[in-house]
Amino acid sequence: MAGLADAAGFRLVAEPEAASVIVVNTCGFIGPAKKESIDTILGMARHKEAGSCERLVVAGCLAQRYPHELAAELPEVDHFLGTSDVGAIAAVLGGEHERMSVGDPGRWVYSAATPRLRSTPAHTAYVKIAEGCSRRCSFCVIPTMRGTQRSRPVADIVAEVSDLAARGALEINLVSQDTISYGRDLGDAATLARLAREVARVPGPGWVRLLYLYPERLDDELVAAIRDEPRVAKYVDLPLQHASSRMLRIMRRGVGSDGQKRLIERLRDRIDGLTIRTAFIVGHPGETDADFQELCDLVEWARFDHVGVFRYSPEEGTRSSGLPDPVPARVAAARFRRLMSLQRRVARERNRAFVGRRIQILVEGPSDESEYLLVGRHAGQAPEIDGVVYLADWDGADPPIGRLVDAQVTQSADYDLAASLLPRG
Ligand code: SF4
Repeated sequence: MAGLADAAGFRLVAEPEAASVIVVNTCGFIGPAKKESIDTILGMARHKEAGSCERLVVAGCLAQRYPHELAAELPEVDHFLGTSDVGAIAAVLGGEHERMSVGDPGRWVYSAATPRLRSTPAHTAYVKIAEGCSRRCSFCVIPTMRGTQRSRPVADIVAEVSDLAARGALEINLVSQDTISYGRDLGDAATLARLAREVARVPGPGWVRLLYLYPERLDDELVAAIRDEPRVAKYVDLPLQHASSRMLRIMRRGVGSDGQKRLIERLRDRIDGLTIRTAFIVGHPGETDADFQELCDLVEWARFDHVGVFRYSPEEGTRSSGLPDPVPARVAAARFRRLMSLQRRVARERNRAFVGRRIQILVEGPSDESEYLLVGRHAGQAPEIDGVVYLADWDGADPPIGRLVDAQVTQSADYDLAASLLPRG
């Protein structure tokens, strides 16, 4: 949307007070995200009364999910744009469009020919390789909001990555709702493995990271691509959601508890130095103390590098929201705290093993903690969700921001590391 607006002659401004049109791009996935979206819309609406804002636009998943409800309850919003209606943004910004533009969510997917304006620094980029999801996990409303999966052709993604690389991107994060299924809808033998290899061979980027690999059996071709391509980060993001086979069945996930363990063992066996990230939901209907204990046992056994924990959010239109045996909120909160604290100990122990090691770091910029520290990430730390590395011994001159540097880890904390820059070469 930002790229299309820019190409049509609109200019982004840094502060909402200075904007003549404000676009709120919303999330509608779970309760807290919906609340944040609504709070932001209401906050931005104030600029229509007390600022230069002439029009307020609400785009994205929340608009797609609740178009009629929002249109009735938010008269201050001038336009609603669905997830596949982003092509109308220039007409909407110009005020030449009807109020409601929320159609079938499964019609649109980005192409390299569409102008793009990035909100991330030049050295790192997300690349959306597909839109939508064709699975039906029982707790998840995403397929309703984003449609079934539509993958972009390999050549189109490679063209986008080449352009990003020419503009200085050193890290490419391939994302979609269901990345492991990439290409299955194309019918042209495109696979994630082939895509990963082709993207990794674009000159420039040091790391290509694959995010959101649904935990089905990763085939040998994909394992080999991660293991053998030097520029593919040895990083697997595997949202497992639970560990008890009974819960995984209720949640309509494909792999049971034995399958999960085999998968983790096989990946660790075949890919040296692999970082594994995962995510779990606690408090899903039907989750007993015994199920939760199985989840804790898996986290203790698997020693994941990074774990995200979410409290179950009942979402209308999903199968889970109609299931019996809801878990009381205070029980879900207690399970959340226990799992987080268990993983904090595991992460601390895993981080301790880094001390003394030499690692490559992508330097992101000055740290918020101190002007004498830089902050960056190693290949096992994805942007925004994992920990960071603080770099000391920087004399303030010529900071290597946006560059890959070598460093030696000197200290570790629960989630972050501290390191000293090593001389170049
Ligand atoms: S694979 Fe992910 S996006 Fe698709 S239905 Fe399941 S949880 Fe939702």
